[in-house]
Formats: sequence, C-alpha cells, structure tokens
Amino acid sequence: MEIRNGEIYLGGVSVEDIASRFGTPTYVYDEAKIRANYRRAYTTFKKYYPDFEMFYAVKCCNNPAIVNILRQEGAGADCASVNEILLAKKVGLSGTKVMFSGNFLSDDDIRQGLESGVIFNLDDISILPRLLKFGRPEMLSFRVNPGYGKSNVGDFVTNAGPGAKFGIHPDKVIDAYRMAKEAGIKRFGAHMMTGSCITDADYFPFVTGLLMDIIGRVSKELGIDFEFVDLGGGLGIPYKPNEPALDLDRAARLTAEMFSRKAAEYGMKAPQLKLEPARYFVGNAGWLVGRVHSIKESYKKIVGTDIGMNTLARPAMYGSYHHIYVNRKENCPRETLGLCGQLCENTDFWVKERELPANIAEGDLIVVENAGAYGFGMSYQYNGRLRPAEVLINDGDAELIRDREVFEDMVRHTHVPERLNQ
Ligand SMILES: *Cc1c(COP(=O)(O)O)cnc(C)c1O
Repeated sequence: MEIRNGEIYLGGVSVEDIASRFGTPTYVYDEAKIRANYRRAYTTFKKYYPDFEMFYAVKCCNNPAIVNILRQEGAGADCASVNEILLAKKVGLSGTKVMFSGNFLSDDDIRQGLESGVIFNLDDISILPRLLKFGRPEMLSFRVNPGYGKSNVGDFVTNAGPGAKFGIHPDKVIDAYRMAKEAGIKRFGAHMMTGSCITDADYFPFVTGLLMDIIGRVSKELGIDFEFVDLGGGLGIPYKPNEPALDLDRAARLTAEMFSRKAAEYGMKAPQLKLEPARYFVGNAGWLVGRVHSIKESYKKIVGTDIGMNTLARPAMYGSYHHIYVNRKENCPRETLGLCGQLCENTDFWVKERELPANIAEGDLIVVENAGAYGFGMSYQYNGRLRPAEVLINDGDAELIRDREVFEDMVRHTHVPERLNQ
C-alpha cells in the first residue's frame, strides 16, 4: 500500500480506480506480494532444513486464482473438506501435493477422501477403523494434539491444548499408529497445528520439541520411519501498526535445530519437514475497499460503510483488529469515531472507537488492511447484503477474479412448494 498525494494505491492501482471499475466492497489482492511472502518463508526454512516443503491451507482464501499463484510457486494444498480437495484438483494439485486434514468426518468424507488419492491426515484414532472399511490409504498421517496451543487472534482460535477439538491426545498417539501399522499401512507422516497468527519465533521450536518427543517414542517402539512431519501453519503477521513482525529467520533456524536434534535423539531417519501456512502468504497481500455511505451523530458519531461483519467476519467473530485507512484524508486531524457495516446486528458495529480523520464524509473510500486471510472465505449473505467482488492486481493492472454476487445468487438453490405460491 502506498499513499500518493493523499490517494491510496494498492499494488500500484489507485483505490478510486478500483472502486469505479468494480464497485465496493471489493477484496483486492496483490499477486507480487503473495509470491514474495511464499518465497520468503520457503527460502528461509529451506536454508536451515533442505528437505522442506510447504502446503497452502486453502480455506484461508480459496479463490482458484490465488490457489494457482501458490501452486505456481511450488506449494501443495492443505484441505479441510472434500470440496477443497476438488478445488486443489481443479488447479492441478493431486496425490502427495494434497493433504486432507478434515475433522469429525462423515462416511462420505472418508470414502471420497480415500478415492481422491491424497495424503490422509486423521484427526482421531476413531476414524481409522471407519476408514479401513472403505480401503487402505498408501500413506497416513495423524494430527497430534501435543497438549499446548497458542493464538494471537484470541482464545477462540487456539487449536491445540486441552480446550481444543483438534488432534489426538498424546497418550493415544502410539495406539493410533500401532493400529495403522497392524492394518498394513506402510508409509507414515505426522502432523500438528497448534496455533494461529503466532509472532513469537520461539514458540515454533517449543511445540516442535513437544511433537517430536511424542512421535520419536512412536518411531522407536513401533519401528516406524516417519517420511514427513508437518508442523502446521500459524506463522503470524502483525495486524496493528508498529506491532513487531515474526522473526522468521529465528523461527526457522531454531525449529530446524530442534527438529534435527530430536530426530537424532530418537534414532529416526531424518523426516521431511512440512509446513502449511496460510495467513502468512495472503494476509498482508489483501485489502478490503469499501465506501462510507452514511454518518450519524447519536450517543456518539458513527460512520456507516458497506464493510460489515458479513464482508469481514473477523472483528465480530474474534474481536480482531484491522487497521483502517481513509482515502485522501490520512493526514487530516483525527477524532474518536465509531465505524460499522449495514447489518441489523449490533456486532456489526465492529469498530467501537478509533482515531479516524475527523472530516470523514459520505462517499469517502476506506481501505481495511490485512484482509487477505480469512476474509472473503468467511463472508456470507445475511440481510441480503451479498458477497463482495474479488480483484487481483498484477503489474499495475487489476483483474476481476470473482464477480460480485447479485440477487439471483441469493435465491439460487431455493425451492418454493407450489402450494405456497397460491
Ligand atoms: C487453517 C489451517 C492452517 C493455516 O493456518 P494459518 O494460521 O493461517 O497459517 C494450517 N493447517 C490446518 C490444518 C489448518 O486448519
């Protein structure tokens, strides 16, 4: 993002151009920035652990154009559902370039996941006998809950530890691999995903040590060679101005050291190291451009825009902070204002108090920063406020990569029994 003569530019394109060509609200992604984010993470970890591969957790931003950018960079896909596997296949990823990490799977999920031929990553031992009814995967991994989780987003997003629904309890991990081995499965991996948006570099080696202690024992006792260990995602980005960024080099170096040391300690053949970040690739490469439509003075001054919890759910859902810029007014004197969307819900009043330009007015464009991750993918149609458009910027040019929804999208797939038409 750049400000030239007061006007905000995203990837070299002015937000006024974007708003006039595509309307508002619109998600805007910067292709060069996504590529740079991927390359930075890849080269840094690869430097310290050469047998390294990264997957992109597609739920974070599942536009096929975005998934294709990451595929071109060399990423595989981490999928949470069968439809995400289909999405990965649509962009040309399959086999060991796709990991199925769903949880609480239905029989249909299991059957289709197996038929798709991707790496199966089971969230619980109880899925294994159900899986074996349908067939035997070539390669299997289990998601381990090493007993510790962390999140900078809020407790809601802590996805390991005693309060989390994910992964296998450390004491049961050995039984899971034993059962799989006895069922004739020959190739194994291990997985964890212990947190999201972590900017503390030392956290990564710490949880890596926990996981390696669990699977190191499994390897020793059962004589299993783990082909890969997937440490999950969670590489964090700063959301607030002046918030320190993750020291990626330190995270990579200490994680690789811990990984190698623990593998040697348990006499394991050095497994491949995998990571499956998502926010780190696309979070700061996406913005949401909206417009101020109405301003009211009630108990306080509230600025109403077309960006609400339906277009960007994170603030209402997790209390997340997103920085807001006002086009052509960033240098103006500020006052404490509220800012909201257009839904009939008070959680849509997603900025209760913020220092914003005091002269903000109807018609102004606003830019919400760090909106690339868990933005569009969590949007919904409540109140008949339909999903926004998505635009990709490359080389100073903006291309539409998803149409703005229209009324037909709101009633599509609905059926009215004939008697109700009378
Ligand atoms: C969501 C998710 C990720 C990506 O998480 P980030 O915090 O965005 O890096 C990785 N792995 C799994 C299993 C996930 O569910």
